[in-house]
Amino acid sequence: MKPFSGNFTQQESLDESVVAAATEVLTSGRLHRYNSEPGELSKASELEQAYAAYQGARYCLACASGGYAMAIALRAAGLRQGEPVLTNGFTLAPVPGAITAAGGKPLLVEITEDMVINIEDLERKAKTSGARFLLLSNMRGHLADMEHLDEIVRKHDLILIEDCAHTMGASWNGRKSGNFGLAGCFSTQTYKHLNSGEGGLLTSDDPDFMARAIILSGSYMLYERHGAAPATEVFEQIRLETPNMSGRMDNLRAAILLPQLAGLEDSIERWNQRYRVVDDVLRGATGVVLCNRPDEERYVGSSIQFSLPGISPAAARAFVSANKAMGVELKWFGDENPVGFTSNHHSWRYVEQQSLPETDRILASLFDMRLPLTFSVGDCRHIGAIIAHCAAEHAKAPGRAL
Ligand SMILES: *Cc1c(COP(=O)(O)O)cnc(C)c1O
Repeated sequence: MKPFSGNFTQQESLDESVVAAATEVLTSGRLHRYNSEPGELSKASELEQAYAAYQGARYCLACASGGYAMAIALRAAGLRQGEPVLTNGFTLAPVPGAITAAGGKPLLVEITEDMVINIEDLERKAKTSGARFLLLSNMRGHLADMEHLDEIVRKHDLILIEDCAHTMGASWNGRKSGNFGLAGCFSTQTYKHLNSGEGGLLTSDDPDFMARAIILSGSYMLYERHGAAPATEVFEQIRLETPNMSGRMDNLRAAILLPQLAGLEDSIERWNQRYRVVDDVLRGATGVVLCNRPDEERYVGSSIQFSLPGISPAAARAFVSANKAMGVELKWFGDENPVGFTSNHHSWRYVEQQSLPETDRILASLFDMRLPLTFSVGDCRHIGAIIAHCAAEHAKAPGRAL
């Protein structure tokens, strides 16, 4: 089989409409979001309006990153120093990082084979800890049974904040991911669904919460210039008692996000077309188990995960190398050592160590792959065939370096 020569970290180049939008802001010299003419809606504010409309949320705040959005969301929701925050045991490092930045203590919940939060373990830990907050991470775009989750959230009076870094555009039974609790947190970092290098969006329907978040983000007393913010009166109460934790988005990033947002639905279709091709090839591969994707879920297939149940650590490393030798870059979350963007809860040493036997067992055989839109559908078929070939070789002689 021919090796694959595509680049797994190469996103699409941004088109002329994006370049024109950037040029306009650069030419104006007014990059700061509050450097606007009287009566002018800044690009950052325009983005807030456009994203609130897309998301179907009353309010939206554009800010520095997805991780930053989560940290200020927890603060704006009233997290007290040292309080526990329930979150998925399998997520990306910025999630426990944001909880820590906000002064909370991550309380890790097991995941299921389908890579979503284990709702039984969530309920158990909500009861025993008395935690008030759940920062739900829709890791790698997988949505839990949101009706069941909602039931547990209500039963235990949890304040739900959703990490939607991989579920921008996804929904459960027609309801958008990010609209299930107090707030949704999104990232516009290069490897997510919109690309401004770095950036974050926070959405909510709650006026007091959003007013606090806006002041926290570093709005000075210029909050009236926001695009999708609560009424001025809402700020009166809180504006002097909320700290400024500078983390604004600038007009340049907002300007390049606006045309991309207009094309998001189209990007989602293209991601899912690619996802389905790889998924289809892998469903026929020896020993490969794919996640179950419930009918209620509208996902965004910007990455794909699968497992080789029972694989040993040595064999998992050999499997990753064999794929790599054929040009296919897989991530393995079971590694003891954090590599690149990949780490697991054992390497978050600033967090009190917790025992998550189920999550550990699942991660030990879990592989993950990005699907950038620069890959054609044919590329995806080729990639699927390489993984299937390596899986078949692994099945013949587990652990042999290929
Ligand atoms: C990328 C990511 C984040 C954080 O986004 P940044 O904008 O990079 O801070 C949070 N959660 C998950 C699951 C992510 O993948």
